[in-house]
Amino acid sequence: MADDLEPDGPYKVIVIGDGAVGKTSIISRYALGTFDEGYKKTLGVDFALKLVERKGKQDVYLQLWDIAGQDQFSSLTRVYFRHASACVTVFDLTARQTFENVKKWMDEVEAKVNTSETGPVPAILLANKCDLKPHEVSDAEIEEMKERYNFVAWFKTSAKDNTNIDKAMATLVDHIKPTE
Ligand code: GDP
Repeated sequence: MADDLEPDGPYKVIVIGDGAVGKTSIISRYALGTFDEGYKKTLGVDFALKLVERKGKQDVYLQLWDIAGQDQFSSLTRVYFRHASACVTVFDLTARQTFENVKKWMDEVEAKVNTSETGPVPAILLANKCDLKPHEVSDAEIEEMKERYNFVAWFKTSAKDNTNIDKAMATLVDHIKPTE
């Protein structure tokens, strides 16, 4: 089996979406196993390295890139998007505008990541903060967004309660690195 191979990668995974939707919290939950209630606005880019162990398949390193959504960092965005192998797009299920802005983020991916050499990279859509109520976006609307932008899948997640984060990321990894 592929179990005894060195880990593959690292693959660059960009985590995008509006400010305060939970990008940093998702990365921190996934890569470090922690959650922080306090909100620290991300300044520039942070990285986290995650070893994904996969039963019966080659392990994979992911390099998770976190960025501020703020426009004043736009000089960084080219570096941020460059050579990404996959994309995690996050919105806040309790803040409708962050869902509307998924379109804007995916247009950026379309323009800056999905070049003619690479073709489209796999992307997943995360409806985060599902532990909070009320939810301002319906499942049908999320499904429609998934179809429109060719997301490989969408998940309701909570970085706070650790809901669906590992499952969502495992789905993404399987699309970056299909089983040989
Ligand atoms: P970012 O700007 O997109 O990186 O957002 P952060 O990760 O900094 O999160 C913004 C705020 O939302 C912080 O106060 C987090 O503690 C909180 N938060 C993030 N994810 C969740 C979640 O799943 N549930 C709840 N209740 N709060 C969350």
